[in-house]
Amino acid sequence: MTQTIPGFSSQDPPLRIGHGYDLHRLEPLAPAGPGKPLVVGGLELPQHSEQPVGPVAHSDGDALLHALTDAILGAAALPDIGQLFPNDDPANKDGESARFLAEAVRLMRGAGWRVANADLTVLLQTPKLGPHKAAIRERIAEMLDLPPDRVNLKGKTGEHVGPVGEGRAIEAHAVVLLVRAE
Ligand code: MG
Repeated sequence: MTQTIPGFSSQDPPLRIGHGYDLHRLEPLAPAGPGKPLVVGGLELPQHSEQPVGPVAHSDGDALLHALTDAILGAAALPDIGQLFPNDDPANKDGESARFLAEAVRLMRGAGWRVANADLTVLLQTPKLGPHKAAIRERIAEMLDLPPDRVNLKGKTGEHVGPVGEGRAIEAHAVVLLVRAE
C-alpha cells in the first residue's frame, strides 16, 4: 500500500535534489593584494607557499559554503544566495558564510524539508585539501545537524590548467538530497 504524505499526491515524491556551484577569484593575501584568508567550509586553510592567496569577495568568500547554500535553496525552490544576501549589501560585507548557510537551512526546514545527505567537491590547486577534509566534513555536518557520514567532501586540483590549475580561482560544487520532514 502506498503511504500517503500530507500535501503530496502519489505522483509527487517526497524528495528533492539540488545543485549549487560557486567560484571565487584568488589573489595575493592582503596587504600584498585584495585576497581574504582562504576559508573553505568554515575552516581557514593554512598556507605555506611564498605567495599565499585568498578569495576576492564581498563576504568571507567561502566558495564551498556558498555552493552548499545554493544547493539547499535550489532543492527547496527558494530564492538563491545572491537574492537573499546581495553582494552590494553592507550587512553582508566580510560576512561569515556560515550565517548564509544557517539561514538557508532555516528556510528549507520552514518549507517542510530536511537534508538527507550532501556530496561536495572543491577544486583548488593549492594548498591541498586532503589534510583538512575530515575537519571540514565534521564542521559542515555540525552546521547541517547531521552525522559526518552524511556529508562527503572531495578535493580535486585543476591539473595546472585553467583558472583553478593556475591558482587563480577556487571552485566548489554541492549536491544535496532533501526529504520531506516527518
Ligand atoms: Mg560566492
